Amino acid sequence: MKRMQTEILVIGGGATGTGVAWDAALRGFRTVLVEKRDLTHGTTGRYHGLLHSGARYVLKDPASAVECINENRILRRTHTHCIEDTSGFFVVLPEDEDDYSDRFADACRRLNIPCTEIPPASALRREPLLNPRISRVFELPDAAADSFLATHATAQAARQAGATLLPYHELTRLHLSGGEGNRTVSAATVLDTVSGEELHIDADLVINAAGAWSGQVAALAGVDVKMILGKGVMLATNARLTNTVINRCKMPGDGDILVPIHTVSVIGTTDEQVADPENLSIEQWEIDLMLTEGDKLVPGLSSSRILRAWAGVRPLYQETQSPGEPALGSIDSLSDDQPAQGSPQYSRDATRALALLDHQQRDGVRGFITITGGKWTTFRLMAESAVDAACGQLGVSRPCRTAATPVPGVEQGHYWLGHRLNEVEDENLQSELVCECELVTRSMLESAAQRNPTVTLDDLRRDVRLGMGPCQGGFCTYRAVGILHQLRAGKASPVAGEWHVAHMQSPAHHHRDGAAAAPSGEG
Ligand SMILES: Cc1cc2nc3c(=O)[nH]c(=O)nc-3n(C[C@H](O)[C@H](O)[C@H](O)COP(=O)(O)OP(=O)(O)OC[C@H]3O[C@@H](n4cnc5c(N)ncnc54)[C@H](O)[C@@H]3O)c2cc1C
Repeated sequence: MKRMQTEILVIGGGATGTGVAWDAALRGFRTVLVEKRDLTHGTTGRYHGLLHSGARYVLKDPASAVECINENRILRRTHTHCIEDTSGFFVVLPEDEDDYSDRFADACRRLNIPCTEIPPASALRREPLLNPRISRVFELPDAAADSFLATHATAQAARQAGATLLPYHELTRLHLSGGEGNRTVSAATVLDTVSGEELHIDADLVINAAGAWSGQVAALAGVDVKMILGKGVMLATNARLTNTVINRCKMPGDGDILVPIHTVSVIGTTDEQVADPENLSIEQWEIDLMLTEGDKLVPGLSSSRILRAWAGVRPLYQETQSPGEPALGSIDSLSDDQPAQGSPQYSRDATRALALLDHQQRDGVRGFITITGGKWTTFRLMAESAVDAACGQLGVSRPCRTAATPVPGVEQGHYWLGHRLNEVEDENLQSELVCECELVTRSMLESAAQRNPTVTLDDLRRDVRLGMGPCQGGFCTYRAVGILHQLRAGKASPVAGEWHVAHMQSPAHHHRDGAAAAPSGEG
């Protein structure tokens, strides 16, 4: 069996895990991250796409609202190019509760979330498809965020700081030393799911950032972490219906947010408590509900062409034991379909605030920390909290640097919709297009494939948005398969080295890089 040694081992390659790897490496820790599939395979690649201003939670979950607005300000500086600065409207419909909007505006002021009431007529001028029956509109700093690009950019920043990231490596075992009351997590066994080989990693400390799978990972250390899993369903329309994020101004509920993401709009979401993080089933009633609620925001949404539906599972957590108390019971004694005692009855009621579980204090297990709950918007703060706790356990003091360290690519400024078209037209790349809907060129695809020897079509979808547009891969998938086949048959040479993540979604940069790297005889 191969062996490695590290100071910090991170489990999970979603927003939180890559954020932890970035933070830990910047603080000078030797860091290894393992992800059982591709980066963003989990909830991070299945979310709604909203950089929250926190306003959604001001009345229901103020702790989460404060985390969101603080991180919203930071991510605009550190991950600028992953964010489209759309702004957000909170709109009041005739059927919405009378006094909610006044209480909402007061709470935003109290929590220092910028909130300006604008006349409905001016909101309708900016968003003509919006329901004309809106009676009040508040504008807030919500935005759209690309979690695929942001995670890759964070991963590149982590690698540049010295971290090793191992996608397609699944944690299968945690090794503990010491006796009862003095147990320490000291190593892990990881399965390389491509080669089938096992890898033994000695680690001073393991950080569990496995999202909805955090309970399963904690169980490998004999620790009980009862997650509250809330499945949500979203639908993408075949065009952008609005350019602004639209929220209903009411207590958070189903189907009350419409987010413009790249070329589409996404209506969501539901919140159904599930027992299994892999339960991504989509039922007809969920689709019908999204269409009905979507029509309330944009009348006629339900008759637009729906491109796709998908689901993600929220990794929510609400602590039910005080530090030092024994855990609620053995893992086996908790039925999987029952919420833990003392936890909210429905996942919709569970807090969206982050949850840091220092298992040394909580369970008497050293060298093990779980970071879960939270939002995509708060991943950087979650990472900071986890690595602060790691410093505490390791007995060192090293300040967090991520809030002031931009990831590669921020110099491009905020994402804007015309970005790819502009580059394709400037560089005359029309004949290079493999995916016309999302303007993916052959060089972008080859570059992505050549830097990932085990690349799948699904990886390409996440990496360069192949097949994400209105044709849903109906044409480009076949072309991509042909190109991958050529690459695998050795007709193009692999490109060694680091992803130019900042440019992975840029047709122009791939064209120039590709031209520079192309073997003679190939264009
Ligand atoms: C429907 C829905 C909509 C949402 N919308 C928004 C939104 O608009 N804005 C927002 O801010 N937040 C939103 N969220 C919340 C947000 O998506 C999540 O909080 C966030 O993505 C969680 O990231 P994570 O890295 O903690 O978990 P994940 O992204 O799930 O990452 C955990 C990773 O751990 C890996 N893993 C699991 N077990 C193992 C193992 N044994 N070995 C190795 N790897 C393992 C998994 O493969 C996975 O990739 C939404 C969530 C849902 C469900």
